[in-house]
Amino acid sequence: MTKRYKAPRGTTDVLPEDQPYWDRVWEASARICGLFGYRRIETPVFEDASLFSRGVGEVTDIVQKEMYVFEDRGGQQLALRPEGTAPVCRAYLEHGMHNLPQPVRLWYWCPIFRYDRPQAGRYRQHTQLGCEAIGEADASVDAEVIELLFRLYEDLGLQGLTLHLNSIGDGECRPRYLEALRGYYADKLEQVCNDCKERYQRNPLRLLDCKQERCQPVIAAAPPFTDHLCDACADHFSRLRAYLEEVEIEYVVNPRLVRGLDYYTRAVFEFQPQAEGAQSTVGAGGRYDGLIEQLGGRPTPGTGFATGIERIILNLKRQEVAVDAPVRPRVFVAFQTAEARSQAFRLASGLRREGIAAVVAAGERSLKAQMRHADSLGADYAAIIGKRELEHGTATLRRLSDGHQETLPLADVATIMTH
Ligand code: ATP
Ligand code: MG
Repeated sequence: MTKRYKAPRGTTDVLPEDQPYWDRVWEASARICGLFGYRRIETPVFEDASLFSRGVGEVTDIVQKEMYVFEDRGGQQLALRPEGTAPVCRAYLEHGMHNLPQPVRLWYWCPIFRYDRPQAGRYRQHTQLGCEAIGEADASVDAEVIELLFRLYEDLGLQGLTLHLNSIGDGECRPRYLEALRGYYADKLEQVCNDCKERYQRNPLRLLDCKQERCQPVIAAAPPFTDHLCDACADHFSRLRAYLEEVEIEYVVNPRLVRGLDYYTRAVFEFQPQAEGAQSTVGAGGRYDGLIEQLGGRPTPGTGFATGIERIILNLKRQEVAVDAPVRPRVFVAFQTAEARSQAFRLASGLRREGIAAVVAAGERSLKAQMRHADSLGADYAAIIGKRELEHGTATLRRLSDGHQETLPLADVATIMTH
Protein backbone atom coordinates (compact mmCIF):
# COMPACT_ATOMS: atom_id res chain seq x y z
CA MET A 1 0.00 0.00 0.00
CA THR A 2 1.32 3.44 -0.85
CA LYS A 3 1.35 5.98 1.91
CA ARG A 4 -1.61 8.35 2.27
CA TYR A 5 -0.08 11.74 2.90
CA LYS A 6 -1.50 14.20 5.39
CA ALA A 7 -0.36 17.67 6.36
CA PRO A 8 2.16 17.32 9.20
CA ARG A 9 0.67 17.36 12.71
CA GLY A 10 -0.05 20.89 13.85
CA THR A 11 -0.17 22.37 10.35
CA THR A 12 -3.22 23.31 8.31
CA ASP A 13 -4.18 23.92 4.72
CA VAL A 14 -5.93 27.24 4.23
CA LEU A 15 -8.56 26.26 1.67
CA PRO A 16 -10.22 28.65 -0.79
CA GLU A 17 -13.37 28.89 1.39
CA ASP A 18 -11.27 30.39 4.17
CA GLN A 19 -9.38 32.90 2.07
CA PRO A 20 -11.93 35.70 2.49
CA TYR A 21 -11.04 35.77 6.21
CA TRP A 22 -7.35 35.93 5.40
CA ASP A 23 -7.94 38.64 2.81
CA ARG A 24 -9.97 40.65 5.30
CA VAL A 25 -7.30 40.50 8.01
CA TRP A 26 -4.49 41.15 5.54
CA GLU A 27 -6.25 44.15 4.04
CA ALA A 28 -7.02 45.71 7.43
CA SER A 29 -3.48 45.02 8.67
CA ALA A 30 -1.78 46.63 5.69
CA ARG A 31 -4.14 49.61 5.80
CA ILE A 32 -3.85 50.27 9.53
CA CYS A 33 -0.08 49.74 9.67
CA GLY A 34 0.12 52.26 6.83
CA LEU A 35 -2.12 54.70 8.72
CA PHE A 36 0.35 54.64 11.61
CA GLY A 37 3.38 55.07 9.35
CA TYR A 38 4.72 51.52 9.64
CA ARG A 39 6.55 50.08 6.64
CA ARG A 40 6.61 46.44 5.74
CA ILE A 41 9.65 44.23 6.12
CA GLU A 42 10.18 40.57 5.20
CA THR A 43 12.91 38.45 6.69
CA PRO A 44 13.88 34.86 5.83
CA VAL A 45 11.92 31.88 7.10
CA PHE A 46 15.10 30.53 8.72
CA GLU A 47 17.91 32.24 10.58
CA ASP A 48 21.08 31.35 12.41
CA ALA A 49 19.74 29.37 15.40
CA SER A 50 21.82 31.36 17.86
CA LEU A 51 19.97 34.56 16.89
CA PHE A 52 17.05 33.17 18.89
CA SER A 53 18.94 31.52 21.74
CA ARG A 54 20.76 34.82 22.28
CA GLY A 55 17.86 37.12 21.48
CA VAL A 56 14.83 35.32 22.89
CA GLY A 57 16.78 33.72 25.74
CA GLU A 58 18.34 30.32 26.36
CA VAL A 59 15.98 29.47 29.24
CA THR A 60 12.67 30.13 27.47
CA ASP A 61 10.10 27.59 26.32
CA ILE A 62 10.46 28.87 22.78
CA VAL A 63 14.17 28.08 22.60
CA GLN A 64 14.25 25.05 24.89
CA LYS A 65 11.13 23.22 23.81
CA GLU A 66 9.57 24.73 20.72
CA MET A 67 12.22 25.73 18.21
CA TYR A 68 12.71 23.75 15.00
CA VAL A 69 16.48 23.56 14.72
CA PHE A 70 18.32 21.81 11.92
CA GLU A 71 21.75 21.56 10.45
CA ASP A 72 22.00 22.35 6.77
CA ARG A 73 24.29 20.54 4.35
CA GLY A 74 27.04 23.04 5.05
CA GLY A 75 26.97 22.25 8.78
CA GLN A 76 25.24 25.51 9.79
CA GLN A 77 22.83 25.44 12.73
CA LEU A 78 19.64 27.07 11.52
CA ALA A 79 16.20 27.54 13.05
CA LEU A 80 12.80 28.01 11.47
CA ARG A 81 11.65 31.43 12.71
CA PRO A 82 9.95 30.88 16.11
CA GLU A 83 9.13 34.59 16.56
CA GLY A 84 9.45 37.77 14.54
CA THR A 85 11.16 40.38 16.71
CA ALA A 86 14.73 39.06 16.82
CA PRO A 87 14.93 38.76 12.98
CA VAL A 88 13.61 42.31 12.54
CA CYS A 89 16.21 43.60 15.02
CA ARG A 90 18.88 41.60 13.19
CA ALA A 91 17.80 43.31 9.96
CA TYR A 92 17.76 46.72 11.68
CA LEU A 93 21.41 46.19 12.63
CA GLU A 94 22.48 44.57 9.39
CA HIS A 95 21.09 47.40 7.27
CA GLY A 96 22.29 50.24 9.47
CA MET A 97 18.78 51.45 10.22
CA HIS A 98 20.08 53.34 13.27
CA ASN A 99 21.14 55.95 10.70
CA LEU A 100 17.50 56.61 9.82
CA PRO A 101 15.30 58.98 11.81
CA GLN A 102 14.21 57.10 14.95
CA PRO A 103 12.08 55.31 15.75
CA VAL A 104 12.11 53.07 12.72
CA ARG A 105 8.57 51.72 12.36
CA LEU A 106 8.28 48.29 10.74
CA TRP A 107 5.61 45.64 10.31
CA TYR A 108 5.73 42.06 9.16
CA TRP A 109 3.35 39.22 8.29
CA CYS A 110 4.99 35.84 8.25
CA PRO A 111 4.84 32.15 9.14
CA ILE A 112 6.08 31.21 12.61
CA PHE A 113 7.17 27.70 13.62
CA ARG A 114 6.86 26.31 17.13
CA TYR A 115 6.77 22.75 18.36
CA ASP A 116 3.60 23.50 20.36
CA ARG A 117 0.96 20.98 21.47
CA PRO A 118 -1.61 21.25 18.66
CA GLN A 119 -5.18 22.24 19.60
CA ALA A 120 -7.72 24.85 18.53
CA GLY A 121 -5.81 28.05 17.82
CA ARG A 122 -2.45 26.42 18.51
CA TYR A 123 -0.44 25.08 15.61
CA ARG A 124 3.13 24.17 14.77
CA GLN A 125 3.07 26.59 11.87
CA HIS A 126 1.03 29.74 12.34
CA THR A 127 1.08 33.26 10.94
CA GLN A 128 1.85 36.44 12.82
CA LEU A 129 1.34 40.07 12.11
CA GLY A 130 3.86 42.09 14.07
CA CYS A 131 4.92 45.71 14.47
CA GLU A 132 8.20 46.98 15.83
CA ALA A 133 9.14 50.58 16.67
CA ILE A 134 12.88 50.62 17.19
CA GLY A 135 15.04 53.46 18.50
CA GLU A 136 12.77 55.38 20.88
CA ALA A 137 12.30 54.82 24.61
CA ASP A 138 9.37 57.17 25.23
CA ALA A 139 6.12 55.70 26.51
CA SER A 140 4.18 57.37 23.71
CA VAL A 141 5.60 54.74 21.34
CA ASP A 142 4.40 51.92 23.59
CA ALA A 143 0.98 53.55 23.53
CA GLU A 144 1.21 53.86 19.75
CA VAL A 145 1.82 50.18 19.09
CA ILE A 146 -0.93 49.24 21.54
CA GLU A 147 -3.30 51.65 19.84
CA LEU A 148 -2.40 50.27 16.42
CA LEU A 149 -3.29 46.74 17.51
CA PHE A 150 -6.44 47.99 19.24
CA ARG A 151 -7.56 49.80 16.05
CA LEU A 152 -6.95 46.67 14.01
CA TYR A 153 -9.18 44.54 16.24
CA GLU A 154 -11.75 47.34 16.26
CA ASP A 155 -11.69 47.59 12.47
CA LEU A 156 -12.17 43.83 12.18
CA GLY A 157 -15.14 43.98 14.53
CA LEU A 158 -13.65 41.72 17.21
CA GLN A 159 -15.63 42.01 20.43
CA GLY A 160 -14.87 41.35 24.05
CA LEU A 161 -11.09 41.70 24.07
CA THR A 162 -9.51 42.94 27.29
CA LEU A 163 -6.17 44.72 27.25
CA HIS A 164 -3.97 43.53 30.12
CA LEU A 165 -1.05 45.73 31.03
CA ASN A 166 1.91 45.30 33.34
CA SER A 167 5.43 46.56 33.81
CA ILE A 168 8.23 44.08 34.41
CA GLY A 169 10.88 46.69 35.16
CA ASP A 170 14.42 47.01 33.89
CA GLY A 171 17.97 46.09 34.87
CA GLU A 172 17.71 48.34 37.88
CA CYS A 173 14.51 47.17 39.56
CA ARG A 174 14.06 43.66 38.21
CA PRO A 175 16.84 42.05 40.29
CA ARG A 176 15.26 43.56 43.39
CA TYR A 177 11.83 42.29 42.42
CA LEU A 178 13.13 38.82 41.63
CA GLU A 179 14.67 38.73 45.07
CA ALA A 180 11.33 39.62 46.62
CA LEU A 181 9.60 36.99 44.47
CA ARG A 182 12.13 34.33 45.40
CA GLY A 183 11.79 35.28 49.04
CA TYR A 184 8.03 34.87 48.77
CA TYR A 185 8.28 31.47 47.04
CA ALA A 186 11.06 30.13 49.29
CA ASP A 187 8.71 28.50 51.81
CA LYS A 188 6.06 27.54 49.21
CA LEU A 189 8.09 25.24 46.98
CA GLU A 190 6.30 22.22 48.47
CA GLN A 191 2.99 23.54 47.11
CA VAL A 192 4.01 24.26 43.51
CA CYS A 193 4.49 22.05 40.43
CA ASN A 194 7.85 20.64 39.34
CA ASP A 195 8.19 23.14 36.49
CA CYS A 196 7.81 25.94 39.00
CA LYS A 197 10.52 24.44 41.20
CA GLU A 198 12.80 24.71 38.20
CA ARG A 199 11.59 28.21 37.32
CA TYR A 200 12.35 29.23 40.87
CA GLN A 201 15.98 28.38 40.17
CA ARG A 202 16.41 29.46 36.58
CA ASN A 203 13.76 31.98 35.53
CA PRO A 204 11.71 33.11 38.55
CA LEU A 205 9.64 35.71 36.65
CA ARG A 206 8.01 32.84 34.75
CA LEU A 207 6.64 31.50 38.06
CA LEU A 208 3.81 34.01 37.58
CA ASP A 209 3.00 32.54 34.17
CA CYS A 210 2.35 28.95 35.31
CA LYS A 211 -0.94 27.50 34.12
CA GLN A 212 -1.11 24.61 36.65
CA GLU A 213 -4.14 24.62 38.94
CA ARG A 214 -2.15 23.96 42.10
CA CYS A 215 0.11 26.96 41.53
CA GLN A 216 -2.71 29.49 41.12
CA PRO A 217 -3.27 30.34 44.81
CA VAL A 218 0.46 30.91 45.22
CA ILE A 219 0.55 33.16 42.16
CA ALA A 220 -2.50 35.10 43.32
CA ALA A 221 -0.82 36.16 46.56
CA ALA A 222 2.62 36.89 45.04
CA PRO A 223 3.99 40.42 45.42
CA PRO A 224 3.08 42.55 42.38
CA PHE A 225 5.92 43.97 40.30
CA THR A 226 4.19 47.32 40.16
CA ASP A 227 5.05 47.77 43.88
CA HIS A 228 8.75 47.27 43.17
CA LEU A 229 9.38 49.42 40.10
CA CYS A 230 12.24 51.93 40.22
CA ASP A 231 11.32 55.58 39.71
CA ALA A 232 12.18 55.61 35.99
CA CYS A 233 10.11 52.49 35.27
CA ALA A 234 7.22 53.67 37.44
CA ASP A 235 7.21 56.97 35.59
CA HIS A 236 7.33 55.23 32.21
CA PHE A 237 4.40 53.04 33.19
CA SER A 238 2.25 55.89 34.44
CA ARG A 239 2.96 57.89 31.29
CA LEU A 240 1.96 54.93 29.13
CA ARG A 241 -1.30 54.69 31.05
CA ALA A 242 -1.93 58.41 30.59
CA TYR A 243 -1.34 58.13 26.82
CA LEU A 244 -3.78 55.24 26.57
CA GLU A 245 -6.39 57.24 28.46
CA GLU A 246 -5.73 60.12 26.07
CA VAL A 247 -6.92 57.97 23.15
CA GLU A 248 -9.65 56.29 25.18
CA ILE A 249 -8.25 52.79 25.24
CA GLU A 250 -9.40 50.80 28.25
CA TYR A 251 -7.06 48.42 30.02
CA VAL A 252 -6.64 46.53 33.24
CA VAL A 253 -3.36 46.44 35.12
CA ASN A 254 -2.56 42.76 35.59
CA PRO A 255 0.40 42.33 37.96
CA ARG A 256 0.67 38.63 37.05
CA LEU A 257 1.28 39.32 33.38
CA VAL A 258 4.76 38.33 32.25
CA ARG A 259 5.89 37.26 28.82
CA GLY A 260 7.56 34.10 27.60
CA LEU A 261 10.51 35.81 25.97
CA ASP A 262 13.45 37.07 28.00
CA TYR A 263 13.99 40.28 26.08
CA TYR A 264 11.04 42.18 27.50
CA THR A 265 11.52 45.18 29.78
CA ARG A 266 9.06 47.66 31.26
CA ALA A 267 5.62 47.64 29.67
CA VAL A 268 4.17 44.32 28.52
CA PHE A 269 0.63 43.71 27.35
CA GLU A 270 -1.81 41.12 26.05
CA PHE A 271 -5.23 41.23 24.46
CA GLN A 272 -7.31 38.42 25.89
CA PRO A 273 -10.71 37.24 24.73
CA GLN A 274 -13.53 36.88 27.24
CA ALA A 275 -14.35 33.68 29.09
CA GLU A 276 -11.61 31.54 27.72
CA GLY A 277 -8.55 29.76 28.99
CA ALA A 278 -5.25 31.49 29.50
CA GLN A 279 -4.09 29.75 26.33
CA SER A 280 -5.98 31.98 24.01
CA THR A 281 -4.24 35.36 23.96
CA VAL A 282 -4.92 36.95 20.61
CA GLY A 283 -2.08 39.44 20.53
CA ALA A 284 0.73 40.44 22.82
CA GLY A 285 3.85 42.49 23.04
CA GLY A 286 5.96 44.86 25.03
CA ARG A 287 9.15 46.81 25.29
CA TYR A 288 12.54 45.19 24.64
CA ASP A 289 15.17 47.77 25.46
CA GLY A 290 17.97 45.24 25.87
CA LEU A 291 17.49 43.16 22.76
CA ILE A 292 19.48 45.09 20.16
CA GLU A 293 22.45 45.28 22.47
CA GLN A 294 22.22 41.55 23.14
CA LEU A 295 22.45 41.04 19.40
CA GLY A 296 25.66 43.06 19.23
CA GLY A 297 24.32 46.56 18.52
CA ARG A 298 24.59 49.74 20.52
CA PRO A 299 22.01 50.07 23.30
CA THR A 300 18.78 50.78 21.40
CA PRO A 301 15.26 50.78 22.83
CA GLY A 302 12.38 49.12 21.06
CA THR A 303 8.77 48.12 21.48
CA GLY A 304 6.25 46.10 19.50
CA PHE A 305 3.70 43.31 19.37
CA ALA A 306 2.71 40.19 17.51
CA THR A 307 -0.77 38.85 16.90
CA GLY A 308 -1.72 35.42 15.58
CA ILE A 309 -3.80 35.54 12.40
CA GLU A 310 -5.32 32.09 12.98
CA ARG A 311 -6.51 33.17 16.43
CA ILE A 312 -7.98 36.38 15.03
CA ILE A 313 -9.87 34.35 12.44
CA LEU A 314 -11.01 31.83 15.06
CA ASN A 315 -12.53 34.70 17.02
CA LEU A 316 -14.07 36.30 13.92
CA LYS A 317 -15.79 32.99 13.18
CA ARG A 318 -16.91 32.44 16.77
CA GLN A 319 -18.40 35.90 16.78
CA GLU A 320 -19.94 35.34 13.37
CA VAL A 321 -18.38 38.44 11.90
CA ALA A 322 -19.30 38.59 8.22
CA VAL A 323 -16.56 38.80 5.62
CA ASP A 324 -16.80 39.17 1.86
CA ALA A 325 -17.82 36.07 -0.04
CA PRO A 326 -15.07 34.20 -1.90
CA VAL A 327 -14.25 35.35 -5.41
CA ARG A 328 -16.79 33.92 -7.86
CA PRO A 329 -16.78 33.88 -11.63
CA ARG A 330 -19.19 36.32 -13.24
CA VAL A 331 -19.65 34.12 -16.26
CA PHE A 332 -19.37 30.40 -16.78
CA VAL A 333 -18.90 29.61 -20.45
CA ALA A 334 -20.52 26.34 -21.47
CA PHE A 335 -20.65 24.57 -24.84
CA GLN A 336 -22.95 21.98 -26.29
CA THR A 337 -20.80 20.22 -28.84
CA ALA A 338 -17.10 19.60 -29.28
CA GLU A 339 -17.08 21.96 -32.28
CA ALA A 340 -18.08 24.89 -30.06
CA ARG A 341 -15.25 24.33 -27.65
CA SER A 342 -12.73 26.70 -29.21
CA GLN A 343 -15.42 29.37 -29.63
CA ALA A 344 -16.13 29.07 -25.88
CA PHE A 345 -12.44 29.21 -25.09
CA ARG A 346 -12.10 32.41 -27.16
CA LEU A 347 -15.17 34.01 -25.55
CA ALA A 348 -13.82 33.36 -22.03
CA SER A 349 -10.47 34.86 -23.01
CA GLY A 350 -12.16 37.96 -24.44
CA LEU A 351 -14.25 38.44 -21.28
CA ARG A 352 -11.21 38.25 -19.03
CA ARG A 353 -9.41 40.82 -21.12
CA GLU A 354 -12.36 43.11 -20.40
CA GLY A 355 -11.85 42.46 -16.69
CA ILE A 356 -14.79 40.06 -16.35
CA ALA A 357 -14.09 36.92 -14.32
CA ALA A 358 -14.85 33.96 -16.58
CA VAL A 359 -14.43 30.21 -16.22
CA VAL A 360 -14.80 27.94 -19.21
CA ALA A 361 -16.15 24.39 -19.11
CA ALA A 362 -13.64 21.63 -19.63
CA GLY A 363 -13.75 18.00 -20.66
CA GLU A 364 -16.56 16.21 -22.42
CA ARG A 365 -19.35 16.74 -19.94
CA SER A 366 -22.99 17.12 -20.86
CA LEU A 367 -24.46 20.59 -20.90
CA LYS A 368 -26.43 19.64 -17.80
CA ALA A 369 -23.26 18.71 -15.92
CA GLN A 370 -21.64 21.94 -17.08
CA MET A 371 -24.56 23.95 -15.69
CA ARG A 372 -24.22 22.16 -12.34
CA HIS A 373 -20.57 23.17 -12.35
CA ALA A 374 -21.56 26.80 -13.02
CA ASP A 375 -23.94 26.68 -10.04
CA SER A 376 -21.40 25.19 -7.70
CA LEU A 377 -18.92 27.93 -8.58
CA GLY A 378 -21.59 30.52 -7.82
CA ALA A 379 -21.33 32.16 -11.26
CA ASP A 380 -23.83 34.95 -12.03
CA TYR A 381 -24.34 33.95 -15.65
CA ALA A 382 -23.79 31.05 -17.96
CA ALA A 383 -22.88 31.87 -21.57
CA ILE A 384 -23.90 28.84 -23.62
CA ILE A 385 -22.61 28.13 -27.08
CA GLY A 386 -24.78 25.55 -28.77
CA LYS A 387 -24.97 24.42 -32.35
CA ARG A 388 -27.10 27.35 -33.48
CA GLU A 389 -25.05 29.91 -31.56
CA LEU A 390 -21.89 28.56 -33.18
CA GLU A 391 -23.39 29.04 -36.62
CA HIS A 392 -24.60 32.58 -35.94
CA GLY A 393 -21.66 33.87 -33.91
CA THR A 394 -23.87 34.32 -30.85
CA ALA A 395 -24.14 33.06 -27.30
CA THR A 396 -27.12 32.42 -25.06
CA LEU A 397 -26.68 34.28 -21.82
CA ARG A 398 -28.58 32.79 -18.89
CA ARG A 399 -28.90 34.56 -15.57
CA LEU A 400 -28.48 31.76 -13.08
CA SER A 401 -30.48 33.37 -10.27
CA ASP A 402 -33.79 33.29 -12.18
CA GLY A 403 -33.11 31.45 -15.43
CA HIS A 404 -33.84 34.54 -17.54
CA GLN A 405 -32.02 34.21 -20.85
CA GLU A 406 -31.40 35.89 -24.17
CA THR A 407 -29.32 35.16 -27.24
CA LEU A 408 -26.96 37.88 -28.41
CA PRO A 409 -23.90 38.46 -30.60
CA LEU A 410 -20.65 37.29 -28.97
CA ALA A 411 -19.27 40.81 -28.96
CA ASP A 412 -22.22 42.02 -26.86
CA VAL A 413 -21.67 39.62 -23.96
CA ALA A 414 -18.88 41.71 -22.45
CA THR A 415 -20.81 44.94 -23.04
CA ILE A 416 -23.83 43.68 -21.12
CA MET A 417 -21.61 42.61 -18.25
CA THR A 418 -19.95 45.96 -17.89
CA HIS A 419 -23.20 47.94 -17.97
P1 ATP B 1 0.70 31.26 24.24
O1 ATP B 1 0.82 31.66 25.66
O2 ATP B 1 -0.71 31.12 23.76
O3 ATP B 1 1.58 30.09 23.87
P2 ATP B 1 2.75 33.01 23.38
O4 ATP B 1 3.02 33.87 24.54
O5 ATP B 1 3.63 31.86 23.13
O6 ATP B 1 1.23 32.51 23.41
P3 ATP B 1 3.57 35.06 21.55
O7 ATP B 1 4.95 34.55 21.50
O8 ATP B 1 3.28 36.29 22.28
O9 ATP B 1 2.61 33.88 22.09
O10 ATP B 1 2.98 35.14 20.07
C1 ATP B 1 2.11 36.19 19.67
C2 ATP B 1 0.79 35.66 19.22
O11 ATP B 1 0.95 34.62 18.28
C3 ATP B 1 -0.06 35.03 20.31
O12 ATP B 1 -0.77 36.02 21.01
C4 ATP B 1 -0.98 34.16 19.51
O13 ATP B 1 -2.05 34.91 18.93
C5 ATP B 1 -0.10 33.68 18.39
N1 ATP B 1 0.44 32.35 18.66
C6 ATP B 1 1.47 32.00 19.46
N2 ATP B 1 1.72 30.69 19.42
C7 ATP B 1 0.80 30.17 18.53
C8 ATP B 1 0.54 28.85 18.03
N3 ATP B 1 1.27 27.81 18.41
N4 ATP B 1 -0.46 28.71 17.14
C9 ATP B 1 -1.20 29.75 16.72
N5 ATP B 1 -1.00 31.01 17.15
C10 ATP B 1 -0.01 31.23 18.05
MG1 MG C 1 3.55 29.82 23.46
